[in-house]
Amino acid sequence: MKKKFSKFLVLMLLSIFSISCVAEIDPISGKKTYTLLSTQQEIEIGQKVVPSAINENDGLYPDREVQSYIKQLGSKISSVTPRKVDYQFYVVNSPDINAFALPGGPVFITRGILLKMENESELAGVLAHELGHINARHHAKFLEKTYGMNILVSILGIALQGSDYASAVMSLAQVSAGLLQLKFSRDQENEADALGVRFSYQSGYDPRGLLSMFEKFKTLERGMSVEWLSTHPLPDTRIKNVQQMISQQYPDSHRLKQNSTSFSRIQAILRSTKESFDYVEEAKKHIKSRNYNQAINLLNRAIDIYGSNQAFTYRALVNLNLKRFQEAISDADKAIGLNGLYFRPMLIKGIAQNQLNQWTASINTLEKAKNLVNDNPDLYYYLGVDYQAIGNRNKAIDNLTTALQLSDGKRGWEADAQKRLRNLKGY
Ligand SMILES: [Zn+2]
Repeated sequence: MKKKFSKFLVLMLLSIFSISCVAEIDPISGKKTYTLLSTQQEIEIGQKVVPSAINENDGLYPDREVQSYIKQLGSKISSVTPRKVDYQFYVVNSPDINAFALPGGPVFITRGILLKMENESELAGVLAHELGHINARHHAKFLEKTYGMNILVSILGIALQGSDYASAVMSLAQVSAGLLQLKFSRDQENEADALGVRFSYQSGYDPRGLLSMFEKFKTLERGMSVEWLSTHPLPDTRIKNVQQMISQQYPDSHRLKQNSTSFSRIQAILRSTKESFDYVEEAKKHIKSRNYNQAINLLNRAIDIYGSNQAFTYRALVNLNLKRFQEAISDADKAIGLNGLYFRPMLIKGIAQNQLNQWTASINTLEKAKNLVNDNPDLYYYLGVDYQAIGNRNKAIDNLTTALQLSDGKRGWEADAQKRLRNLKGY
């Protein structure tokens, strides 16, 4: 009896295993392995987090030449990597010294880290290292280890409405936050370094560029915070390992490409816009302390130098706070025109339209924004108010309920949302 039962159990476990596991060829070892998350699912999850990553890094850097340069360089390096996924390369406006990747292909480089680089091989080294994490499935392994498959599958199939909507949205919010703060282990960093050196070398770049960035991070760390170090730990042994690997396996590295005129060109563009972005950073501090007049002066100065999507977005935000709704909409439109994937200006525009009682226009803007980032509680609150105003009771209830479920309790509209829900439900 006992034996029979255990046989049954084994069979049952085997069938569960075969349902939930996917057989794939490991790109690094070339061997067949079983993974929980298929490559396609990994790509889809990464795609869902791209707009949040862009939003949290203050939008995409608006210059087309810079974006197409990073895409070209990124494609050149990713073409030598064994894993075939959906590689994408973006420069974001953030002043932080950072670079990171998402599952299944997206790689982000900040404006801040680019300004600290001195040649193209350094950039190639950093990109190659991030591609190392993607090729070794480090993000996918984190997802498999941290979240249940039911959570991962539910965020992939988020239905537009319905009772599971709020819980799926909250799961996606958790997974996004987890991925954007993901810290790798020492072993994973060593693996990404080894792959990064290899990819750099194979794509024709001197892999010592990565080493030179490591040394820069160490020096910079004393004076300022280096975001990259908070997610990619860099003990001295890592630097030594990379030095050793290069001298033993790639002794002719110095013959490879170090720099290019395109790199110098895009650096010149970044330098010419730096002052404008610095004014925006100053303005952000004043916005935090509600010193709006000071903030607007700085943002005007920023826009005079370079009208970036980030500068227009923050001026839109100040105008919204000063109840200058028309000006807020016009600034938000300029930011959206420069970068359609940037969530924040869309949210600001939708709220300003709501405040002007332009219910349908506000619904159109906020629904578009929701397609980018769907875990923002304010978005649901204003959508709920819009739908209530045009008499769409079901959508008003759905949105206000989701707003309250996502809220941290400090948004300021919670009591109003509850009152509206009571009226809508008739008790
Ligand atoms: Zn790393």
